[in-house]
Amino acid sequence: MPLVLVILGRQGSGKGTQAALLAERYGVVHISTGDMLRAAVAAGTELGLRAKAVMDAGNLVGDEIMIGIVGERLAGDDIRAHGVLLDGFPRTTAQADALAEILEGTGPDLAINLDVPIAEVTERMLARGRDDDTEEAISRRLELYEAETAPLLAWFEDRGRLTVVNGLGTEDEVFARLSQVVDAR
Ligand code: AMP
Repeated sequence: MPLVLVILGRQGSGKGTQAALLAERYGVVHISTGDMLRAAVAAGTELGLRAKAVMDAGNLVGDEIMIGIVGERLAGDDIRAHGVLLDGFPRTTAQADALAEILEGTGPDLAINLDVPIAEVTERMLARGRDDDTEEAISRRLELYEAETAPLLAWFEDRGRLTVVNGLGTEDEVFARLSQVVDAR
């Protein structure tokens, strides 16, 4: 399996934008589970119907469903050939365990935590005005992030795969920092 990168960060940290830039620069496939779920909602598939209420409430879609979707996608020829940048997955340690298993026990090459403080991401999310960006949903997601996703940082750190990158600054400044970290790997 070629390069496998994971980008972590609070919602509103700019990780979606940076992930797209990184995927282009390193020639890997960008997989955003949030985008996959929103596409399923828009298409009105069975998955979309199930995911919509969960997403609207700012909750996480179940691990079993997510692991199934991502596992299937990672088997794709494009990813086998070019590698992948995972954006929005894993979100829980159960998902990280499953990812390591899918990657035959090795786990991703590098997990980057794009770090932006809570006050700043809240402001950014309110400004972008997405459908699921009500104030309640935002604070619910940030709460969930701290409770469930933050332990992921420990998961990656324990395996020597975690790097923290300061997410404050212009898009170019942040991209330069991220590229440096990937290059060093
Ligand atoms: P995002 O675009 O990454 O902010 O994701 C939007 C929403 O999709 C989240 O609030 C969750 O409801 C759901 N979602 C995306 N990725 C995952 C995941 N790996 N596990 C569980 N839920 C997810």
